This record gives sequence, structure tokens and C-alpha cells, in this order.
Amino acid sequence: MTTHQAHCLILPYPVQGHINPMLQFSKRLQSKRIKINIALTKSFLKNMKELPTSMSIEAISDGYDDGGRDQAGSFLAYVTRFKEIGSDTLSQLIQKLANSGCPVNCIVYDPFLPWAVEVAKNFGLVSVAFFTQNCAVDNIYYHVHKGVIKLPPTQNDEEILIPGFSSPIEASDVPTFVISPEAERILEMLVNQFSNLDKVDWVLINSFYELEKEVIDWMSKIYPIKTIGPTIPSMYLDKRLHDDKEYGLSIFKPMTNECLNWLNHQPISSVVYVSFGSLAKLEAEQMEELACGLRNSNKNFLWVVRSTEEPKLPKNFIEELKLTSGNNKGLVVSWCPQLQVLEHESIGCFLTHCGWNSTLEAISLGVPMVAMPQWTDQPTNAKFVKDVWEIGVRAKQDEKGIVRREIIEECIKLVMEEEKGKLIRENAKKWLEMLWMKEEVQIKILKNLFPSWLNVRVIKN
Ligand code: UDP
Repeated sequence: MTTHQAHCLILPYPVQGHINPMLQFSKRLQSKRIKINIALTKSFLKNMKELPTSMSIEAISDGYDDGGRDQAGSFLAYVTRFKEIGSDTLSQLIQKLANSGCPVNCIVYDPFLPWAVEVAKNFGLVSVAFFTQNCAVDNIYYHVHKGVIKLPPTQNDEEILIPGFSSPIEASDVPTFVISPEAERILEMLVNQFSNLDKVDWVLINSFYELEKEVIDWMSKIYPIKTIGPTIPSMYLDKRLHDDKEYGLSIFKPMTNECLNWLNHQPISSVVYVSFGSLAKLEAEQMEELACGLRNSNKNFLWVVRSTEEPKLPKNFIEELKLTSGNNKGLVVSWCPQLQVLEHESIGCFLTHCGWNSTLEAISLGVPMVAMPQWTDQPTNAKFVKDVWEIGVRAKQDEKGIVRREIIEECIKLVMEEEKGKLIRENAKKWLEMLWMKEEVQIKILKNLFPSWLNVRVIKN
């Protein structure tokens, strides 16, 4: 039997890119003998392909138990009802756990759900905000919240000076919700993340100090910030947790054997891995340009095309790939075990939408990138990949917003083989060495959250 000193309830916003890092962080806490319960919406749980065996999961309601966000119709309707019903069902859950003799001490919540702070305060619990995006992006939303950044800018190349950034950035580098007026409601939610942050005990950011020192130092003056990243399983970093094979809580089923068998037959650093994450939707025209760009690059490629995106592929594309031999072999899968893929020696570059998890994962595994950001925080991440960390290039869109096949081909060749891309490849390897989760950082966080956790005794029978 193991005794637990503290009990943390984890509340992620129910999308893949938010759940993955919170789950990994939870595993780290659990390895320090802190009891963990993850609260997920019934609608998300319903679609999950498999549940992790090592974590306790509890259901709460977002008010749309059958279809979640899709059932709600509008985004505003979803978050409004989630707040109302979520607050109640989260409170009931905390009560239930207390009645069962296992009271919760602390809530680690996604700031997309800021109402969780009120619930935590009602029960006298420690509250911890967990930002799944990086500090630079959070800093931009913070300044929109404070009214410091006046938007939208008039031109794409207009320069914006953001406090905490060493140099101005262009409008095309800020998160899309900030510059597109039709995303006003989403921006409202992003800005609301800061509405009650002054009441929380800690603010955790899924980033690494060395990656964005200046902006982290700057934000630390306002909030009690701790960086905790990269939140990827320790088996890909320091191998500290032995039983750490499960990666995510996913509604997608990875085609593991097919991917890895295929990669095992490709030469070292020969493959372009292509993925746009769990949400981004590409135009059919963009899919066609990408397909042709990959073909013309004469490189082998592994391309994740979610089943909902597959009808946009050029006609007979998948069938033709099966007939290709020699260089330029390709495999299209609907979902893959991304970390195992990125870690594979056959991977030479990652053509990515620059979702923050994908970016951190590539950095942590030393893979150089071709950035093709689509929306939300991805343009800001791509800006850092290209200009700050110099570990990739950004594929330029034309005036219609499409990246053409010639550009895709050029970027892949630059990152994978040309002399001009040598520095990028070397830099990617440098970050790999630096970005290992540091035990001291974790211990510092845990000591602050649970001052007496070090005194926990483990009783075995
Ligand atoms: N992912 C995966 N298999 C895939 C594609 C993506 O496991 O085939 C994971 C990836 O490792 C990352 C997450 O899904 O952890 C995507 O998060 P990210 O922030 O990169 O993008 P989002 O889906 O939020 O746009």
C-alpha cells in the first residue's frame, strides 16, 4: 500500500493539445507520490479509443454530453454552458472525493476554464493555472487583456512592440485570434485567462526557461510563474519514469506498427514527417500543393492526414504512393505515435503546423522543422522556430494564403540537405541536449505546492 500526502485534481480543456501536456505533468506528480485525478468531460471520454491504465479519470459535464463542442454549435455557447454546468459538476466531484475519504488539496486547471479558480476557492483548495501554450504567446494575450496592444493592425508587415519581447514582431507573427475580427469570441476567452489569475497560488507554463528567458523573466514580475516543460514522457528525455509508455489520452488511434515498420526500412535522416496536429483543416488547394511539393522534393515522407481531411487529397494519391519505389516513397496514415516517429533515426525533418506540443516535441528530440503555421498561436511559434531558436524555416504563403509546391520543395531541401541549412540542423541538435526536464525544477514546484511532500513515507506491504 502507498500513502499519498497530497491529492491533485487536474482539469484540462478537452482538446488533444491541452490534455497531452497536463497528462504528462500529472505523471510526474504521481511519480512523487501525489495522488492524481483527471477530470474530463463526458463527451470527450465517450470518444476516447483507450483509457490510460496508470491514471484515475473522473467525468464532469460541459453541458453537452453527447457531442461536446460540436453539439454546442457556437464556441460562445460551448464555453458559457461549460462554465455553468462545469462549475457544478466539478464541485460535486470534489465533494464526492472528500466523502470517499480522499479529499482534494489542489486543483491544477487550464486557464481556458478560469471559473475553476472560484470552485477551488469555495473549497479552500490550492489553485494552480497550467498554461499549455508558451510564455511568448501568453504574454501577447496578456497585453491584449491589458489593452496595451491595440488591434487589429492595419497591415501584415506592421511592427508591434510587445513589452517583454526584445524586438518588435510583425502582425503576421501574432496569434491569428488577435488579428482576425471574426475570432473575437475566441479572443475574449483567451484574454479571460488572465481575469482572475491574481487569485491563484501558482502559474505553470509548458515551456522551458532557456527557450524564452526574456519573456519569462518579464512575466515572472507579474505572476508567480514556473516553467515546467517540456512535458513529454520521460522515456523520451531522461528515462526517469520506468513505466512511461502511454503518451496521451487520445480520441485518435495511432497506426503504430504500420508507421514504425515503414520507418525501419528507410535510410537515416531520409524522411520528411508531415503533420498538422489534431485540429487544423487545410484547404483542398493547399493539400494538393503539399502533395506535389512532397513529390517534387524527391524525399521519402510520412504524412498524417486525419480521416476527415483525407477526401481533400488529390485523386488516387494514396494508390499511386503504393506503386512508388526508390526515393520519394510515401506513407499516409490517419494518426501516428508522434513521439516515436520524431525519435526515429530515419526522420530528417518535421513539416509542421507548429502547434506548441509538436514544436516542443521536435525541439526535445532534435528534429529541424519546416513551419507551415495555420492558425491560433502557430504563427508566433513559427516566428520563434525560425528567428529566435533558428531551428527551422517558415514556408511563405502567397497572397491567397497558400504555400505553393515550389516553396515546400525548396524549404524541405534547405532543411534536410543544403549547406545553407547546416546551422539549422546543428542548432536543432543543441537544443536537444539542453531541453531535458530538470529534477530540481520539479522539486521546487512541488515543495511550493505541497510544502511537506518530502516527508511522505511509502509503506509497502
Ligand atoms: N499527435 C500524435 N499523433 C499524430 C499527430 C499529433 O500523437 O499523428 C500529437 C502530438 O504529439 C501532439 C498533439 O498530438 O502532442 C498535437 O498537439 P499540438 O499542440 O502540436 O497541435 P494541436 O493538435 O493542438 O493543433
